[in-house]
Amino acid sequence: MTLINTVLGPISSDELGLTLVHEHFAVAYSGWECDPLSRPYNREKMVPLCLRAFGPVKDYGVRSIIDATPADLNRDVDLLRELSEKLEINIICSTGRYTEEMGRWAYLKVRRQNKIGDIMTEIYEGFMQEITAGIGASGIKAGVIKVATGHQSISALEEAVLRAAARASKETGVPIISHTEGGTMGPEQAELLIQEGADPKKIMIGHMCGNGSLEYQKRVLNKGVSIAFDRFGIEMFVPDEVRVTTLTGLLNIGYAEKIMLSHDFIGCSSGRGGRLPEEGQQKQAHWSPVHIFRDIIPALKQSGITDEQIRTMMIDNPGRLF
Ligand SMILES: [Zn+2]
Repeated sequence: MTLINTVLGPISSDELGLTLVHEHFAVAYSGWECDPLSRPYNREKMVPLCLRAFGPVKDYGVRSIIDATPADLNRDVDLLRELSEKLEINIICSTGRYTEEMGRWAYLKVRRQNKIGDIMTEIYEGFMQEITAGIGASGIKAGVIKVATGHQSISALEEAVLRAAARASKETGVPIISHTEGGTMGPEQAELLIQEGADPKKIMIGHMCGNGSLEYQKRVLNKGVSIAFDRFGIEMFVPDEVRVTTLTGLLNIGYAEKIMLSHDFIGCSSGRGGRLPEEGQQKQAHWSPVHIFRDIIPALKQSGITDEQIRTMMIDNPGRLF
């Protein structure tokens, strides 16, 4: 039994239960605050939006959600605490960093340029602070470390983040969850993390459902890490049909104990608002935090996947990751 940091304090790993391993209650992309037409940040208005989006997961027995939002996507842990209390669901929040292209890096780049600090050490110290002491003045401790890399490439900064994450994970036992761009660089992420001392059992390589090749999936899994099929419903990138076929293929060759499922859903976002064009809306029509339960599990069962395998992916594996 391991202790896990949730936004309401520590719980034991056997209290996790049915878990969605990669979702976002609220996100804001860097730069939203520079748009004069952005709506002002308003936590009071965001709470009901998030409750409406995520409340229905309770009907399907979800007990825990990992919020994969790092600080540079405008993470708001006080919002997460309020939502956890109101939903009566465990929420595990992230320390970590988003990709170099989409995250917030200017501050550390200037420190590096002026030779003030070593970037990898400073990132590592930040992770340790948020895991062991807490995030800001909230007293809330991070329960996972989120890392991210770009499309077909890992920049020097992203590599520093991976190495810092591996060190912090090794020292604290806190797992690492990742963002891959379209499922690329999965083997490379796993290799770097393991090389720097992270335990493969504490690593979940994310967004792997972006890649339909069983051979590629096996290259990642053979490193001993777990993978996540965590973008069900985001059909702008890959049709769910491809995700289900790839997942079924992996389950049929015995990888149930290494795969976890989620949606990468976003409950609400900041900025000026707006809608996707018609085509995008159609492709995202099924994206919701209950899509797996409503549509994906029935599809898996039709292709012969058992309740036992689904239980392994959604209950046992998240517990084991911690
Ligand atoms: Zn995400």
